[in-house]
Amino acid sequence: MDFSTSNTINVQTIEESRIKNVDLSNIKFGSIFADHMFECDYTDGTWKNASIRPYGPISLSPAAKVFHYGQAVFEGMKAYKDEQGKLWLFRPEQNFERINKSAKRLAIPEFPKDLFFEALNKLVKLDHHWIPEGYGNSLYIRTFVIATESNVGASPSNLYKFMIITSPAQSYYTGEVRVEIAEHFSRSANGGVGAAKAAGNYAAQFYPTNLAREKGFQQVIWTDASSHEYLEEAGTMNVFFRVNDSLLTAPISDRILDGVTRKSLIQLARMDGINVEERRVRVSEIVEAANNGTLKEIFGAGTAAVISPISAFSYQDQVYELTPQTDSYASLFKKRLLDIQFNRAEDPFGWRYEVK
Ligand SMILES: *Cc1c(COP(=O)(O)O)cnc(C)c1O
Repeated sequence: MDFSTSNTINVQTIEESRIKNVDLSNIKFGSIFADHMFECDYTDGTWKNASIRPYGPISLSPAAKVFHYGQAVFEGMKAYKDEQGKLWLFRPEQNFERINKSAKRLAIPEFPKDLFFEALNKLVKLDHHWIPEGYGNSLYIRTFVIATESNVGASPSNLYKFMIITSPAQSYYTGEVRVEIAEHFSRSANGGVGAAKAAGNYAAQFYPTNLAREKGFQQVIWTDASSHEYLEEAGTMNVFFRVNDSLLTAPISDRILDGVTRKSLIQLARMDGINVEERRVRVSEIVEAANNGTLKEIFGAGTAAVISPISAFSYQDQVYELTPQTDSYASLFKKRLLDIQFNRAEDPFGWRYEVK
């Protein structure tokens, strides 16, 4: 892939890296940040003052619109280091397109492509030593845009800040995840913002997820808001059901986040000759498959955990346990994706992007 770059970013590097104070073999996801961050402001109708500077606090007016009306969107991606020390991203153009799609839905101005890629390359190169050694480890990259205008009038902001921060991440296994199928709460609705990576979508999920936790389930499988009869997403991941040897997943709509992991997994599975059905999946169909033994696996798919196997689900107060599979698709596709991301396997679809 080739993206034009221009030298428009003002770079101020840290005097001494903070990395010596950090144990990269023992980190909690999302809690530690690398030395630098990228920042760019939108004023007078354009993005300007692009800079990379030491990671640290930003100053905002208490009246900044993001605090009052939630005009905020984000992206999550990862940088990987292979055995030769080369740095890779995975399908970053997908994240670029998606943050602008999310921005548009929240009346936030789009960010320019050349600057997005220049910032990513510069920042990852600068802080690559923060990527923990080892297969599956990465530098989690959080890009986000917030409304910064100091004005509590209920209208879109005239000022925004686009930022990139990065956080070292160890490969993690989510453990056995037990989920509850939503019968009352919804993550998104027709015509809403479910397809956007809007910060507010997450805020709205926390309360129902807490209720599920109190009952012993770590996550909620969201169903459609109108009937609660169709399965849509698992927590903050897309969800797949393996019935016999077919994979079923909800089709992309304005209620579903169009995940990069989801679409990549679908392409790999089809290349392997696995039947993948992107269609509405009824709760009753999955309950029936659980009862007659044809439901083999359920798993979530998303950048942070890659694939997260689900060991049990609850519906109408009945718990259905899944039997671990020796030929698990969840482990197969986790390895297939990681091998491509870490430059250990052929990249049949040209997904890897080398950071230079
Ligand atoms: C980010 C996200 C996903 C996963 O998307 P990836 O591009 O695979 O990381 C799935 N569902 C929701 C609701 C999300 O916010």
